Amino acid sequence: MSNSELRAADFVSRGSSVRALLEDLRLNRLPNAVLMCGASGVGKRTLADYLARALLCVSEGERPCGRCGACKRVLSGTHPDLLAPALTPRDKTIKIDHIRELLEQLSRHSLEGGRRVILLKNAERMTAQAQNSLLKSLEEAREGDWFLLTADQESAILPTIRSRCLTVRIPPFEEKRVRSILIAEGIGDAAAERAAELCEGSLTRARELLADEEDERLRRMVYDTFLALQSAADAPAAENRLKDMKDHFDRLLSVLEREIRLISRARAGLCEMPAEASSVWQQAPLFGVGRALDHVLQAQRLRASNVNWQAVMNGLMQNIAEEVSTWRP
Ligand SMILES: [Zn+2]
Repeated sequence: MSNSELRAADFVSRGSSVRALLEDLRLNRLPNAVLMCGASGVGKRTLADYLARALLCVSEGERPCGRCGACKRVLSGTHPDLLAPALTPRDKTIKIDHIRELLEQLSRHSLEGGRRVILLKNAERMTAQAQNSLLKSLEEAREGDWFLLTADQESAILPTIRSRCLTVRIPPFEEKRVRSILIAEGIGDAAAERAAELCEGSLTRARELLADEEDERLRRMVYDTFLALQSAADAPAAENRLKDMKDHFDRLLSVLEREIRLISRARAGLCEMPAEASSVWQQAPLFGVGRALDHVLQAQRLRASNVNWQAVMNGLMQNIAEEVSTWRP
């Protein structure tokens, strides 16, 4: 299910304080400042996004409707009344300047009485100065403005800020809920079950576990195909093993690149040789490994210019097989 399809009913299993929050929303009495806390991956930001859409939606019926212009603009991040600090990926903290800029934007904003939402995700990243600079605005929030904060660690939020917010604590997901969400996202039953068991109620962690598992699967595949080739005669069987990899081929290439680089570093004595590397690769001449890597990089360039994946795979198989066949003493 995508976030745009979320309904209030999807949150009712998230604990009594979330249910009370949704009831406040429904009855049009949501406090002007809400702080959503809970461990990483329990759905705080999803809930904050949902509230933002519900507050800005202009539908006459159930809000958010997911269809009106306001809903769509919130989803695409272009709604003029949805404000958030302008952070770059390099910003590890939310600084006082970020908050000042945000508040400046808020004050300049035309006051037509419309609703506005100020989203402060990862509010625990605000420096103490940044939090202090926000305080007055929280205290004096005008009617129709909502400050929605999310934080992994409640204790990282100053008591003065907390005392001005309705604090909503979101519990970890139940295991069976994680499993059903993952299955609804198209993950196989067994993998969903395993990830749900190990994620400690964090959907984010469950997705990371699945990504790790997928990486491991691709890694094994790389060693069983490209890195198992001894001569061109082995290529057809290897190609056959990859025949269903259309959607994963580019990731497979990057895993292959990574593993060849690892082998190269291991040959140069800079790290441990991957245990899966065959004796051929373990004893490969360093320049030969370098040439194999060049072939992979060339394949990636071809993919980047949209050359058919199968053609790229076949060419790469041939090139690697030929390279490896020259290594024999
Ligand atoms: Zn709407």
